[in-house]
Amino acid sequence: MEKPEGCILCEKPEQDNDAENYILYRGDRNFVILNTYPYNPGHLMVAPYRHVASLEELTNEERHEHFDIVSRSIKVLRQELIPEGFNLGINIGRAAGAGIVDHVHTHIVPRWQGDTNFMTVISDVRVVPEALAKTYQKLKGKF
Ligand SMILES: [Zn+2]
Repeated sequence: MEKPEGCILCEKPEQDNDAENYILYRGDRNFVILNTYPYNPGHLMVAPYRHVASLEELTNEERHEHFDIVSRSIKVLRQELIPEGFNLGINIGRAAGAGIVDHVHTHIVPRWQGDTNFMTVISDVRVVPEALAKTYQKLKGKF
């Protein structure tokens, strides 16, 4: 499998440094990583280990595990951060606003009443009240 330079969703899971890379959980075919430019505290991404651009390129096993882990992530965030809602998003292709093009991933963004409107927030980097490391410690081991 060709793995281009500079794809963080390929490089980070290959390193043996999950804490510094904010990798929260490793499944057989997918992993969970904290977004380092979060729209809200607890903004996670679920991604396959394989560098594929879109959902239809995943095997059935990869895709099933992907959405099992998305569902589990919602459960963990609900328990640990007590959000009042979630935004889930998959941006496929540069024109759709994908920040990491060509490596498909699902964003999970916890939401609270009164936080900034998601559509406003996605065009900007948000300063979050809770440090990433603190969020990582809270969520690590809960999957
Ligand atoms: Zn990749």
